[in-house]
Amino acid sequence: MREEHSDPCVTNEGITNGNTSNGIVPSDKPTSAWPRENKPDLLGMFPEELEVLMKAYGEPAYRARQIFPLLHRGMAPEQMQVLPLRLRTRLREDTVYTQPAVARKLVSRIDGTVKYLLRLRDGACIESVLMRYRHGNTLCLSSQVGCRMGCRFCASTIGGKERDLAASELLGQITAVERDSGERISNLVLMGIGEPLDNFDNVVRFLHLVNRPEGLCIGYRHISLSTCGLADRIRDLAAQDLPITLSVSLHASDDATRSAIMPVNRRYCLSELMSACRAYYLQTGRRISFEYTLIAGRNDTPADADALSDLLHRAFAGTGAPLHVNLIRVNAVAETDCRRGSRESVAAFAERLTRAGVVATVRRRLGADVNAACGQLRRHAMMPEKASFVPGAERQYPDTEKGGRAEAGKAEERKDVKPPVHRRRAFRSNARPDRDADVRSQESEKNREENDRRAENRKTE
Ligand code: SF4
Repeated sequence: MREEHSDPCVTNEGITNGNTSNGIVPSDKPTSAWPRENKPDLLGMFPEELEVLMKAYGEPAYRARQIFPLLHRGMAPEQMQVLPLRLRTRLREDTVYTQPAVARKLVSRIDGTVKYLLRLRDGACIESVLMRYRHGNTLCLSSQVGCRMGCRFCASTIGGKERDLAASELLGQITAVERDSGERISNLVLMGIGEPLDNFDNVVRFLHLVNRPEGLCIGYRHISLSTCGLADRIRDLAAQDLPITLSVSLHASDDATRSAIMPVNRRYCLSELMSACRAYYLQTGRRISFEYTLIAGRNDTPADADALSDLLHRAFAGTGAPLHVNLIRVNAVAETDCRRGSRESVAAFAERLTRAGVVATVRRRLGADVNAACGQLRRHAMMPEKASFVPGAERQYPDTEKGGRAEAGKAEERKDVKPPVHRRRAFRSNARPDRDADVRSQESEKNREENDRRAENRKTE
């Protein structure tokens, strides 16, 4: 029997998952970000803040400039040989260093997409998805543990929100995946578990940190942030003047349908949301990408397409804004009653939008065999008997590590795949060639064998 999850309660204070009728008890954990120890959280600090810390420790300010880039390469303070032993010891004892551990990993046989289940310092699990494109690697990040927005088609919201992620935990997802894959991440999408704008301060801090040239130096234009439509926060984001790409999940073009799919619409109705989007465009000049998940029989008729194009034309009238809709075929989640429409119906919907002057793209589905839909791997880890996850991927790794400083060393030990050129020095001493075969996909192995064979032939010639 399918488990129904009812809508979250929408109150003046915000949105809370008040559902108890289905056996899902809302978490009573505080929702502020981890860590809450009264210690500086190193990975979440700017170089200027590290400088102040160094001064407080009686160390020269340049130590901050040494520490910051190493932290962003995923190195724990005690591994920083460039620092004197007394400082390494002090940092280990008096600060918090957060590096998520890889609890499970699924590699798609189809396209090499890697879905990670990462375990955080307090044992909470989140997901990150590494997608490989011709233009570079993209990492889909989680911004919260769980989500309280209650979108009908989404597994992440089942069970509500446990807590926000700290800026360091957002960064930690990148360093953990870079270290595990040995590949550089050049693009980010905040579209994983959680509503990024519901964790506004930590997310904005993270955006500034990840852009720092001394650190990961990922350009704002290479970052997309997706929101379910927190209108006030969209205006706040516009005021930050960050040239990131904003994606707004619409999924319906009338309030009744949208409220049924996305309870957030009861707090911020469509006219309020579209007015915030218009203000965002006028302030930043950045095109907004509207996400529209097609659910068979709910929002995918020709009339829905017409209503959607009307809504966008009305909202941006007189601004000259390019109108763009990204269509997504819904992922089946056993706990929801959302069904996927046919490819033909998606194509017809896109064509109708295009004819109405709206650029329509259909999102390519990566990692179909590893259930890359948001929240499903975590859901499986939480409640395996109820989740819709079906193991079909190339590799699965059982939990072998717990989060935390002690495990950082272990995590590094298993970092094995050829690291990116600019990081080889940092990784060399920890290379474990015997584990290489474990973490590479079969496709990569075949390619490597083929390359070796060719090199061998060339030598013989
Ligand atoms: S789609 Fe996004 S905002 Fe909606 S419930 Fe899922 S994670 Fe939250």
